[in-house]
Amino acid sequence: MKLKKLELTGFKSFSEKSSIEFPVGVSAVVGPNGCGKSNIVDALRWVMGEQSVKQLRGKAMEDVIFAGSNGKPPLNMAEVCLTLLNDNGTAPEELKDFTEIMLTRRLYRSGESGYFINKQPCRLKDIHNIFLGSGLGTKSYSIIQQGNIGAITEAGPEERRFFIEEAAGITRYKNRKKEALSKVQTTKQNLLRINDIINEVQKQMAGLKRQVKKAEIYKNYQKRIRTGYPDFFCKI
Ligand code: ATP
Repeated sequence: MKLKKLELTGFKSFSEKSSIEFPVGVSAVVGPNGCGKSNIVDALRWVMGEQSVKQLRGKAMEDVIFAGSNGKPPLNMAEVCLTLLNDNGTAPEELKDFTEIMLTRRLYRSGESGYFINKQPCRLKDIHNIFLGSGLGTKSYSIIQQGNIGAITEAGPEERRFFIEEAAGITRYKNRKKEALSKVQTTKQNLLRINDIINEVQKQMAGLKRQVKKAEIYKNYQKRIRTGYPDFFCKI
């Protein structure tokens, strides 16, 4: 997958809708200090599902919404759309037929938020799933912020293993395995509970069987009384 286009509306310093294209080859964002270069990287991280406010250089998630400047009033919503070129089949199975995948993340000042894939509402998990094993994604090595190269060179063995596994493209399968094992565990727990219920019901059944027998004897006697069976009283 490759980045194709990034559209920002109300995100940090981008009060008006701005569109940034990433043509084939090397792209560089150049500009004076404080013009918003890092905000573009923040937008990339954010739309890929970043949850850490610290990674987005803010104090609260609301800080990504344009807070007003140069006489422009603050906005109530931030939206970032990222268009990816799906040219090498690394996208998940359900999206592999799309040549382009558009991801959208939206946040309102009220706290309401949403994620979309190709304009359809989706879960954060679906966004993460797109990037697993692709080398992209927020926890991956694809975004290295200013002064952050040490995150890889000084990473401990566990973190380094994560980077290598991500580069090898196996994280998605490892995640699926984890999910499948957790489902197996839940099913085992459910089976245990079902066995308990079966045991309990079987205990109740024994008592009920005794009651059924008594009821049948009672019904039989009733019938004989009604039909005036002659030796009834003698037999009792
Ligand atoms: P440098 O080269 O110094 O790292 P930069 O080009 O990367 O700078 P950024 O850090 O991306 O610049 O942008 C900083 C600017 O974004 C500041 O002027 C800041 O006021 C503005 N900014 C950040 N968040 C918001 C917000 N929520 N609303 C309005 N402006 C914001």
